[in-house]
Amino acid sequence: MVKKAEKIWFDGEFVNWDEANVHVLSHTLHYGLGIFEGIRAYERADGRTHIFRLEEHIHRMVSGARMFNLKLQFTEEEICKACKETLRINNQKESYLRPLVFIGSGVMGVAAKGNPIHTVIATWPWGEYLGEGALENGIRGKISSFARNHPNSVLVKGKVTGHYVNSILAKHEALSGGYDEAILLDHEGYISEASGENIFIVRKGIVKTPPYSSSILGGITRDAVITLCREMDIPIEFGRFARDELYMADEVFFSGTAVEITPVREIDDRQIGKGGRGEITHRLQKRFFEIVRGTDNSHPEWLSFI
Ligand code: PMP
Repeated sequence: MVKKAEKIWFDGEFVNWDEANVHVLSHTLHYGLGIFEGIRAYERADGRTHIFRLEEHIHRMVSGARMFNLKLQFTEEEICKACKETLRINNQKESYLRPLVFIGSGVMGVAAKGNPIHTVIATWPWGEYLGEGALENGIRGKISSFARNHPNSVLVKGKVTGHYVNSILAKHEALSGGYDEAILLDHEGYISEASGENIFIVRKGIVKTPPYSSSILGGITRDAVITLCREMDIPIEFGRFARDELYMADEVFFSGTAVEITPVREIDDRQIGKGGRGEITHRLQKRFFEIVRGTDNSHPEWLSFI
């Protein structure tokens, strides 16, 4: 269960958590066009709270809304400010933030031009997304029988509510098979990403991930990992690969706001590398947490202090 906070930001006003309700004829509820974000706020070693890459997250949401011609009532700056205010009013030092843009009620039918476009921001504490110990010990993945959304069927670079039906199908399948997470292939059979994470493999010291131009969400944590690899002299390549490269990798890890950097120790009942957290994964993870929670001040542009 989500731990309730006191307030939710709703179109510029703070409303009580239990009163942040919508009409059952809200368009997004029926047709699945809403744009959202998942963002983390961390408390650093000096006791100050920051929101990790807040501006980039809100930029992705607003650009996503633009792709669908949704006219927001608020600017990026106003939404960023509201995210900070929501954390402050809820007195949260470490939290997950969920901004959502959705289409309200009015006209029904697919087009529904003219319905109000609402923006909300909720915040709640969220620990290790893939379960306790996942960050240290790694998780068990399963290649899904569901292909990742095709970029010519939907606009995969948008973090759209309806796209997550694809993720839910894959995730349920993985969980009911006793695995922790699903890895989806694209329509040509190459590795795309997990149900809510980007994927990386490491082989012979080289990190590889599918290119941005493939069917993946352009992860903001993925971008941080790429930057850290470059800074840490860890070679990184972008390219497509099939499941054989995954099975033969020395290390596999996921990146994402919720999972941060999580090792994958097994895929389809095959042990990956030594079957735990790989060395390069560990180095990247350590540096990531030093930046977000510790004392590494090398990326001030990633931290929006509240
Ligand atoms: N892919 C999908 C499908 C996701 O839902 C997410 C989570 N937003 C990611 C990748 C990772 O993106 P980010 O690092 O920006 O959280």
